[in-house]
Amino acid sequence: MGKTILYARNETDLIKILSNNPGTQIVGGCTRIESLPDKFISTHGIKSISQIVRHELYIDVGPGATLSDLLNIGQTHLPQILYEALNCIANPFIRNIATVGGNICTPEHKLTLFAPLMALDARLEFKNLDETRTENIRNFKGVPDGFILTNIRIPIVDAELSIFRRIGSEHTITQQSASFAFMADTEKNSLLNVHLAFAGPFAFYSKEFENAMIGRRLPLQQSDINEIENLVIEEFQKTATDKMISDVVKQQFFNLTRYSFEQLT
Ligand SMILES: Cc1cc2nc3c(=O)[nH]c(=O)nc-3n(C[C@H](O)[C@H](O)[C@H](O)COP(=O)(O)OP(=O)(O)OC[C@H]3O[C@@H](n4cnc5c(N)ncnc54)[C@H](O)[C@@H]3O)c2cc1C
Repeated sequence: MGKTILYARNETDLIKILSNNPGTQIVGGCTRIESLPDKFISTHGIKSISQIVRHELYIDVGPGATLSDLLNIGQTHLPQILYEALNCIANPFIRNIATVGGNICTPEHKLTLFAPLMALDARLEFKNLDETRTENIRNFKGVPDGFILTNIRIPIVDAELSIFRRIGSEHTITQQSASFAFMADTEKNSLLNVHLAFAGPFAFYSKEFENAMIGRRLPLQQSDINEIENLVIEEFQKTATDKMISDVVKQQFFNLTRYSFEQLT
């Protein structure tokens, strides 16, 4: 059977077309989906849903913006952790087609931008014909039924210490792929805040853990690092119960967490 490709002029048009054509799937650059749906409509190239607008405290990114569009605003205008994550995805050819929305909305396995965006406290906006919903990416489980992602609001923050690492093969996504993001700020001799995020077979972020880190005396001692590592393991295992994750990926996450806190000794 032939494929039906629908086109929209702008965001409102896109939402209307989706609502009037049941069974139509929204896509970005189609670099992640395994096969083209029978009926689909793309955000790619729709100006009003692909814009990147820099404000004083945050950047609004349309989901149809490509990874290259976002990278092209420049290293000095992006949080370092986000810049590094964007730069290691696939290759420049794929980044010219792949959208930011597709990277976030891909179901099941969480892709490379997910952990940095959780650490940065990004907010997602979803719309259908009648309603706009916003949700913190830290709580995001999937695109609500009948809605599409219409904006990603990324705070422009650069922590004193920020660490991004990929787990698994470079420039591609496999079952072993994950991303790790860590941000920390200090004040005099204590920790002001910590943001720690993991995303791969599932996403991990713990507010309880972060709250337990606030105000810790610096420099950290080896005994502190051991205690923190045990706390992270405990919190991570709670999220990982019933989830498929290899011991190697899990161990790499714990090692990276330990390494990050060792930078504060
Ligand atoms: C060779 C190669 C290497 C790659 N390497 C990496 C890598 O290193 N890291 C990485 O993260 N990814 C990688 N990818 C995967 C992919 O290219 C990117 O993650 C990309 O950002 C996906 O965007 P897309 O626009 O192509 O998504 P699509 O394939 O078009 O869509 C993906 C999913 O998102 C949904 N979606 C898209 N937009 C919206 C929206 N606005 N609202 C609701 N749902 C939406 C679609 O329905 C679909 O389920 C690689 C891909 C290839 C082919």
